[in-house]
Amino acid sequence: MTKVIALTGGIGSGKTTVSDFLKKQHIPVIDTDIIARQVVEPNSVGLKKIVDCFGAGILNNDGSLNRSLLRDKVFNDPQAKTALESILHPLIQFETRQQIQRYKKQLQPLIIVAIPLLIEIIQKTSTRPGYIDEIWVVDCPTETQIERATQRDNSNRTLIKKIISQQASRQQRLAYADRVIENNGTVEQLLVQTQKLINQQTNKSV
Ligand code: ATP
Repeated sequence: MTKVIALTGGIGSGKTTVSDFLKKQHIPVIDTDIIARQVVEPNSVGLKKIVDCFGAGILNNDGSLNRSLLRDKVFNDPQAKTALESILHPLIQFETRQQIQRYKKQLQPLIIVAIPLLIEIIQKTSTRPGYIDEIWVVDCPTETQIERATQRDNSNRTLIKKIISQQASRQQRLAYADRVIENNGTVEQLLVQTQKLINQQTNKSV
């Protein structure tokens, strides 16, 4: 039986560090951030819907999506954000399910689906996607998130704090967690914990 694990966490919490480690171990990782880009590639249904909603001015000269303009448009406009989400989420869910089915056919015991904004989606829709068996949350103190994200993106604290304030709170996220991967130590400690969780799933001794 295949188990589908959703991996989530706030900005800078360490999701990518965990999922890169899992990929190296040949555990299938479905990245919904990548799918989110694929569903709006030129000539896609998703891009056509975005143009219908936001106008052709949302495109670059070469016909691709002007992501930074779209980001600006939805950043301070909740209605535009909802409109965008109602276009993207069904397309992302559909493709995610397709990929899960492909891995299930290969009889993979474990599939990881990285969904950064899973808790926000659950809160908004009041439903947990049916394909998820367990939710794993990567967690660290908010101040650590700010420090790591600021350094990684060479960004300013104010922007990272604003993004954090728009995401689910740490407590809200933890309330949905079947497993918590704590990331308030070193990367090595993070990966040892992750390995233990994987071993438990695959019934290897820890
Ligand atoms: P985002 O949602 O913003 O993409 P993320 O949850 O994927 O972030 P990562 O990219 O894995 O987070 O980690 C954020 C930054 O913090 C990266 O530069 C990563 O190398 C670093 N980092 C992660 N865990 C640790 C740790 N335990 N100690 C030090 N640095 C860490």
